[in-house]
Amino acid sequence: MAESRQLNEARRILQEYIKLKNLRNTPERKAVLEAIYVVPAPFTVDSVKEYLDEVYPVTRVTVYNNLELFFHIGIIVKRTSGSRGQEYETCVLTLTHHNLCCTNCQQVFEFRDSSIMRFFEGKRYKKFKMTNCAVMIYGICSKCQAKIAREKRRQLKLEEKRKLLEQKRQAEQKKKAELRREERKRQAELMKQLRAKAKKQKTEQNNKKQ
Ligand SMILES: [Zn+2]
Repeated sequence: MAESRQLNEARRILQEYIKLKNLRNTPERKAVLEAIYVVPAPFTVDSVKEYLDEVYPVTRVTVYNNLELFFHIGIIVKRTSGSRGQEYETCVLTLTHHNLCCTNCQQVFEFRDSSIMRFFEGKRYKKFKMTNCAVMIYGICSKCQAKIAREKRRQLKLEEKRKLLEQKRQAEQKKKAELRREERKRQAELMKQLRAKAKKQKTEQNNKKQ
């Protein structure tokens, strides 16, 4: 069974680490390791604890600490899901999926592409042997793309409306200025007529006196 091959490899990695760090081989740690190969992936601290409650009860802290250790030594990968919080998945000797992360809504979408694994397998890493890889590609999901496009269209419409209002305001100002100019001209004309009339009256009076 493929899964037991993965579990054996995970056991080997853990044993190496325990030896290296002089840690204790606790039955709790063994139980948590076995559990993550039984519970459905992706799993959480709670889903592992729930499973273990039936077979080998341990505290939530024990589950959490061991999952963090497994993550630290590369037995599992973790990611944050919106509804379930921190999720984990085994990754030893498995060709798992890769992830597309939307930087707008933070949603993570899984995808599979075996060429990615082959690409990285062909590379050399200094003092490092790759056992698996998971790629996280960042971008914008289709829903958010549509949302952003809608928002852009809305902004453009608002901008157009603003421009039209501004044009209307300017036209009104121009018209008012024109009216004022005409009014001044009319007043000036009127004054001119009045002055001419006064002059004419004065001349007539002078003529009468003579
Ligand atoms: Zn999105």
